[in-house]
Amino acid sequence: MASAGNSVLVVGLGRFGSAVAQTLNDLGQDVLAVDRNPVLVARWSNVFNVVEADMTDVLAVDQIGAQDFTKAVVAIGDGIEASVLTIGNLLDAGVTDIWAKSVSKEHTRILQRMGARHIISAEADAGKRVGHLVAGEYLDYIEIEGPYTVVKIHTPASMANKTVGQAHVRERYGITIVGAITPGLDFRHGDEDTVMHRGDELIVLGLQDQIDRFIRD
Ligand code: ADP
Repeated sequence: MASAGNSVLVVGLGRFGSAVAQTLNDLGQDVLAVDRNPVLVARWSNVFNVVEADMTDVLAVDQIGAQDFTKAVVAIGDGIEASVLTIGNLLDAGVTDIWAKSVSKEHTRILQRMGARHIISAEADAGKRVGHLVAGEYLDYIEIEGPYTVVKIHTPASMANKTVGQAHVRERYGITIVGAITPGLDFRHGDEDTVMHRGDELIVLGLQDQIDRFIRD
């Protein structure tokens, strides 16, 4: 069984938890995964360490040696109660670095109050991202930290063939042109002299409303 230090405890082997556990395993990290469903335990037991246990049960948490882990991912989305009880048990066991999957705003509020360090609203985040893409404004979209986003857009008409410096992009919009891609050519890192050709794809970092102003100007 994986133990201590650098190992990561993953609770819940649904689509989300199993993807996290598999990625950690592929990255060479020790994983101990736990699920109360024996079918899932059997499915993953050849890939990484898995035990069958119900983590809402304090005794089970103790038996798997949760107290030896500093990092845990709680990927229980099929019951807020089970998620909250599990996180409470792990916090009591001294696991400090908890990544918790949230399924709703209410769930997020409870997890924040409990002191879960990282809260992942996977479905809400994916929905937001798809909304931006379907709206057609962005070619790609990643939310970084809070309101900051990195987006891929076509060069706005008003910027065509200007350099980043000539357009005073940072001063006027507060955004950073991370780079530009002319179709068929390599990525160019963005600086003052980067030309934003018509038809280029630009990678832009900034606050959403700053980026939107840049696009619409
Ligand atoms: P996804 O939406 O990512 O597919 P689910 O919410 O369907 O995830 O899956 C959650 C997983 O967590 C299920 O496999 C379930 O058996 C497991 N699970 C739920 N409660 C507990 C618990 N108390 N202890 C251990 N595993 C649990």
